[in-house]
Amino acid sequence: MTSAARLAESTTPDTEAARLARAVSRLVQVPSVNPFHAGPRAEQAGPVGEAVIARTLAEDLRRCGAAEVFTEEVEPGRPNVYAFFPGRTERLVVVDVHTDTVSVEHMTDPPFDGRVESGRVWGRGALDSKATLGVLLTLLEEWQRQGLRPEATLLVTATAGEEAGGLLGATRFRSWAMERGLVIDQILVAEPTGFRPVHGLRSLVLAEVTTHGAAAHSAQPELGDNAIEAMAPVIAAFVQENARLREMAAATELGCGTVSVTQVDGGSGSNIIPDRCSITVGRRIVPGENPAEVLDRLRTLAQSASRLPCAVRSLLPEAPDGGPAWPAFYQAPDSALVQRLAEICGTVPGVAPYGANALRYSGLAHEVVVFGPGSIDDAHQATENVAVADLVRMADALRAWLLPAAPEGKP
Ligand SMILES: [Zn+2]
Repeated sequence: MTSAARLAESTTPDTEAARLARAVSRLVQVPSVNPFHAGPRAEQAGPVGEAVIARTLAEDLRRCGAAEVFTEEVEPGRPNVYAFFPGRTERLVVVDVHTDTVSVEHMTDPPFDGRVESGRVWGRGALDSKATLGVLLTLLEEWQRQGLRPEATLLVTATAGEEAGGLLGATRFRSWAMERGLVIDQILVAEPTGFRPVHGLRSLVLAEVTTHGAAAHSAQPELGDNAIEAMAPVIAAFVQENARLREMAAATELGCGTVSVTQVDGGSGSNIIPDRCSITVGRRIVPGENPAEVLDRLRTLAQSASRLPCAVRSLLPEAPDGGPAWPAFYQAPDSALVQRLAEICGTVPGVAPYGANALRYSGLAHEVVVFGPGSIDDAHQATENVAVADLVRMADALRAWLLPAAPEGKP
C-alpha cells in the first residue's frame, strides 16, 4: 500500500481514532521549533518559535467554546495561550502543554508532514507534546457539540519555551496565575510518561567554575601559573563528591543528587601556559536539597581544591527567592490525582530523571502531576511519532478525569 493510500485509509472514516489523529497531525504541520534549537531546516519551514502555533491554538480554543482566551508574550514573538472552559463546579484544574519542540536538523524523516501511517502520527512534536494538545482539542470540540461541561473549570495552558531556555513559559504562567489569585486544585503537565503519573522530578544547579592563573611561554612554565593544571584537582573533587552523594540515603524515589563535569574550556596555544580554565558542572538536586546551599558546597569544594584563585558562578536565571535554581518537584504518590490517573490507566506512579514544566508549579496547585501518552525514550530522536491507539487511550483518560458522569447528565 502506498503511504497516500494508507493516509486515506486511516484518516477518511470519521472514527474517534481518525479525528484524534487528524488533530495531532494538524498541530505537527504547524512548525514550532524552540528558538534555541533553530537551524536551516527549521527556518526553511517557516518562522521559528511559538508564535504561529499560539495563534492557531487561540483560534481553535475559541472555536471549541472557551469562555475566555488570553495570549501573553513570554518573550517578543513567543506567546503563551490560556483558555478557560467553565465547568459544573468552581473547582479549577489546569492542563499544561508546551507548544515548542526540539530541533529538526538531525531528523531523517520529514519533520512537519504529520502523516498518519502504520497506525501512527509522524513528525516533530507528535509525541512531545502535541499529542495531548490534539486530544484535548478533539474532546473539547466534542463536548461543545454535545452540550457537555467538564466537572471542574478547565484552564488549558499552552506554554512556550519548555525544551530550552529555563522553562520561561511555565515561569510566566506561574506569575500570571498568582497575579490573578487563581486557586488551582490540580495541574496536569503533559509529557510522554507512558500513562504513568509522574510525581517527582529532579532539578538542576548549573555552574561555571573558572581558575585564573598567569600566561607564560611553555618553555619556561615556572614564569606562569597553569590554570588547566590547577583545575585537575577541582575536577577530582567533583568526582569524589559524586561518589559521596551515591552513598547517601535517598529521601524519596528520586534517589540522590549527582554531580557531572560536562564541559571544559581553556588554553590559547600549544606553547602557552594557560592563564584561564573553565568547566561546566551540573548538579542534579533532589527533594529536600536547597539550591543555594548546593551551589555554596560546589564553591567550597572548588576553592579548597584549587591552588589558584577560583570563581564559581551560576549559569541559570535566578529563582524567585533569589536562589540559583528552582528546587526539585515532588508530589506525594498517594495524592488523589496520581492515584486516579494510575487507576484509570492501570499504571504504576513513578518519578522521572528529566525536567518539565512541573518544576515551576510547586505550591501553585494542591496537586501537580506529569502525565501523557508515549515514551520519553522516543522523544527528541531522528524520527518522532505517536501511536493512534495511545491517542485514543489518552482521550479515555482525560474523559474519565475531567468528565466523570454527572448525576444530571447535562449541565
Ligand atoms: Zn516535552
